[in-house]
Amino acid sequence: MTLDIKDVRAEMPNYENYKDWVRDGEICGIAVHHSATADQATGAPIGDAYAFFNYHVNVRGWSHGGYNYVITGQGQIQYALDERISAYHAGFKDPNNSQGLEYGQYWNNHYLAICLSGWFEHNRTYQDSAGRVQPIPDDYTSPTEAQLQSLLALIQQLRQKYNVPVENVRGHRELAGNSTSCPGVNFDPAELRSQLRALDEAEPPLEPETQPTVNPGEHVLLLPDADKYLEAVLAYVWKFQPDVSFSVDDARGRWKYMTVIGGTDEVSETQLARLRSGGAAIVQRIAGGPQTVQATLDELIAKEERFLVATPEPTPDGNGSEPLPEPEPLPEEEWRTYTVQPGDTLSAVAKQMYGASHLWRIIFEANRDTVSDPGRIYPGQTLKIPPKPEAG
Ligand SMILES: [Zn+2]
Repeated sequence: MTLDIKDVRAEMPNYENYKDWVRDGEICGIAVHHSATADQATGAPIGDAYAFFNYHVNVRGWSHGGYNYVITGQGQIQYALDERISAYHAGFKDPNNSQGLEYGQYWNNHYLAICLSGWFEHNRTYQDSAGRVQPIPDDYTSPTEAQLQSLLALIQQLRQKYNVPVENVRGHRELAGNSTSCPGVNFDPAELRSQLRALDEAEPPLEPETQPTVNPGEHVLLLPDADKYLEAVLAYVWKFQPDVSFSVDDARGRWKYMTVIGGTDEVSETQLARLRSGGAAIVQRIAGGPQTVQATLDELIAKEERFLVATPEPTPDGNGSEPLPEPEPLPEEEWRTYTVQPGDTLSAVAKQMYGASHLWRIIFEANRDTVSDPGRIYPGQTLKIPPKPEAG
């Protein structure tokens, strides 16, 4: 799907003064906001990137606006603040870093911000010119269909680019330290995540079912941004001895198996499609920043597997509820514990403990007494880790 994104970054106020800034840390999640702005007469979404950034910069005095993307009520996606720049969307006060979340900058540094124009609640009011509180009609109290479709498509694109697991797509109010109803009480982030999961299943990643047998000279590691990723791939190259090339466009048709390092900034989807159309059996992207790439490759090295292979999903039970791996009751002595580190998610912990992020729910179920929301674990928290379930 090609997304219709209007690039308005350079038109935002104060752009020249911050355009070269870069965020502190890697992107690992996406936060959804609403603007809490509605037309007083109709309740319809009102405002766009120009209006919000003008307010943030010229009224609030911020250096730049608070969101990377804005989606208007008509579903137009506006790219307003470069993804490389940390948006001011979910900071909070934590001067002693008691939550281990980087003094309140964790979400800003590690989460992209998407804002939907609109106000997704009932019983909204405004003050008229005489200072009287007036009701806003109870219409448009949820995102428009056009907005939702744009939101889903944009999130899928960003998740692929930064390797963002679905549970790291969150509503603003789900971010620890933030006290807000944003993106509106009528907007259910869990429902959004289940729609994203459905899209994931509809578009399975291009992963082989089994590891192929690779002869010398058949496999290349494509490294278009060597400065950024060389360190991250060294152990993998040492282990599997693929050829290494820095030129993506010359690789077409020359190797049977290709591992491509980097996100869509490094190698576009069009370039990947070109490689695939050149007769390669596997063209596999390892996405994410250097730390994420290295973690993925380390996992492959540990398993002695050259490629990521498709993990068969459990079949849905037909009534729409999510399939759960059923953990067997096992002797307590085989259990381990894990202390949550800053930036951890349940899926990251599952990846670390089991080598498979999709097993996060086993950890969640085992810790129901202390974890009520799988999106909320805290640095320093101790998790009980059941033994890894047997395959099948
Ligand atoms: Zn918000």
